Amino acid sequence: MSNWTTQDSENLYKVQRWGNGYFKIGDDGNLKVTPKLDEPNLQIDLPEVLKEMHADGIQFPAVIRFHDILRSQVKTLNETFRRVITEAGYENSYMGVYPIKVNQMREVIEEIVDAGRPYHYGLEAGSKAELMAALAYNTNRRSLTILNGYKDDEYLRLALLGRKMNRKIVVVIEKFSELIRLIKLSKELGVEPIIGLRVKMMVKGRGKWEHSSGERAKFGLSIAEILKAVDLLQQEDMLHLTELLHFHIGSQLTDIRSVKEAVQEASLIYSKLYQNGVPLQYIDVGGGLAIDYDGSQSTNDSSRNYSLDEYVSDIVYGFKQTCELQNVPHPIIVSESGRAITAHHSCVLTKVIGEIKRTGVDYNTDPLPDEHILVTNLRDLNNLLDEDSDNCQEVYNDAGQIKEQAMNGFKLGVLTLDELAKTETLYWQLLTRIDAISHQLEFIPEELKEISESLSSQYLSNFSVFQSAADSWAIDQVLPIVPITRLDEEPTKQCSLVDITCDSDGKIDKFIGDESEPIAKNIALHSLKADEDYFLGIFLTGAYQDVMGDMHNLFGRLNEVHIFSYDDDPKDFYIEEVVKGSSANQVLSTMQYNPEIMAQLVKKQIDKQIRKGRIAPREGVKLIDFYEESLSSYTYLKS
Ligand SMILES: *Cc1c(COP(=O)(O)O)cnc(C)c1O
Repeated sequence: MSNWTTQDSENLYKVQRWGNGYFKIGDDGNLKVTPKLDEPNLQIDLPEVLKEMHADGIQFPAVIRFHDILRSQVKTLNETFRRVITEAGYENSYMGVYPIKVNQMREVIEEIVDAGRPYHYGLEAGSKAELMAALAYNTNRRSLTILNGYKDDEYLRLALLGRKMNRKIVVVIEKFSELIRLIKLSKELGVEPIIGLRVKMMVKGRGKWEHSSGERAKFGLSIAEILKAVDLLQQEDMLHLTELLHFHIGSQLTDIRSVKEAVQEASLIYSKLYQNGVPLQYIDVGGGLAIDYDGSQSTNDSSRNYSLDEYVSDIVYGFKQTCELQNVPHPIIVSESGRAITAHHSCVLTKVIGEIKRTGVDYNTDPLPDEHILVTNLRDLNNLLDEDSDNCQEVYNDAGQIKEQAMNGFKLGVLTLDELAKTETLYWQLLTRIDAISHQLEFIPEELKEISESLSSQYLSNFSVFQSAADSWAIDQVLPIVPITRLDEEPTKQCSLVDITCDSDGKIDKFIGDESEPIAKNIALHSLKADEDYFLGIFLTGAYQDVMGDMHNLFGRLNEVHIFSYDDDPKDFYIEEVVKGSSANQVLSTMQYNPEIMAQLVKKQIDKQIRKGRIAPREGVKLIDFYEESLSSYTYLKS
């Protein structure tokens, strides 16, 4: 046995680095969740949650939502702004909004609105459907509802309806023509909107979404358009309704410098507009607060080089300084952090159901009397390797050559299928040994380093990348993946992950790396045991991933459990709700199939076979039942 410790696992998987205080590795090698930062003693054992789900008959893969983490993130963001505002002597307040698009699940919205009530934390909507959700669920009259995105008349009418409901609804003008229609509709309906102006910033965000700002950005008004808008509002006697200035330079801002630069630019624009008589009360800094998915605290695309405190301080002190220099009042600060609020609260648990070895199976390679010389030569290389470990490279070169010759020999009909299978097996055995030996060498030749990777296995997991980790596929986002048990044991397998879709893109091959290789192609996992399930957690899936999943291969939504922590419970938690994932019926229906008709069609064909005497009537009935049962069951593998 190696003397592997849980600390070694921590160094490898960096749980505390990305876990934000919510996740850590327990001394027993199990993954633990501390859902409330201010109650560190309340600790949930993730394998225990799994056990209870098993006992309740919930099938995997499944999404686990920790509502306390959601609440805790809302609280942390709001209290950090409050604390920094007090420390800085900033003469106004913070009134954040949660952008619905980041996770639109009703339960998520309800929890955020409830947790945010003491802070008058509001919602941001970017489409009509999201606005309708906000109208129904943002019931706090003092909190803001901020409306972004392109707007047609119906969108604007809904916004004005919200004003009639006495809600603080701010229509952010993204495009000049929206303003003209808003003015017209507001006069028609006799309702006064609260108007926001989105400014197209010169500064660029850094990271994947840097094109959200700059002159060619999709949204926002140029300075010239803003001045034209101000003129128009003045003419229409609506300037007094222009209360908010908005900017958003991109999501997942990896470098704090972009935040500082944006604050500098926006605070000046705010000040100058204020001095020109625009009665702005709010400055909305948009989203962008990043998540350190890979735990590297760097400007990697999946990381960030700053803390929440630093982010908030740069905004608060930045505006304070400019406003004081420009002699204008401090505005109310609004931010639209989505990712930072929701990423941590949910994860996906998936079972590894098999290993696809590149090195093949154990095939009998014993020599036969008249075997081909290539097979013999390859076997002899094994003995050569025994004598001297300095000849790794040489043996590797020879093995590669023999393997190629064997393939050609087979094509020419000189080698039998059995001999080809033997060369294949001997080749991989040889590479496995070369890999082991070369790791002991002081200097490892470049080519030999690549052997490890060619030897790595693929672990087949019961999930769909397209449904549960869309950004991993679409934009190479790194998401932390960690086994939830055996973390006190050395993980000896280098692997990548493949999912159960019939798509060669259905894989994850970007993992948390180390200093020398920030993004690794493989992850170290434990070897599978015949008598023990092996479950992986895919973490930080609460932002975007939860709701962007698609229907590739018709797998559909996952089963979901909502976990609440509860101190008086022996296990510190209870499952508050189970939301059933997609059944075959449901996913087929969304693609215009009619499962009832499908069942009839199958029945017809079986009946025909019964009439022809190919299926016994009793068996036929069972087969039809089985088909119907499968239609109503979970789409993922039952393993
Ligand atoms: C997407 C979006 C957000 C959320 O950004 P995060 O980086 O997830 O915080 C906020 N505001 C606007 C306008 C957006 O488009």
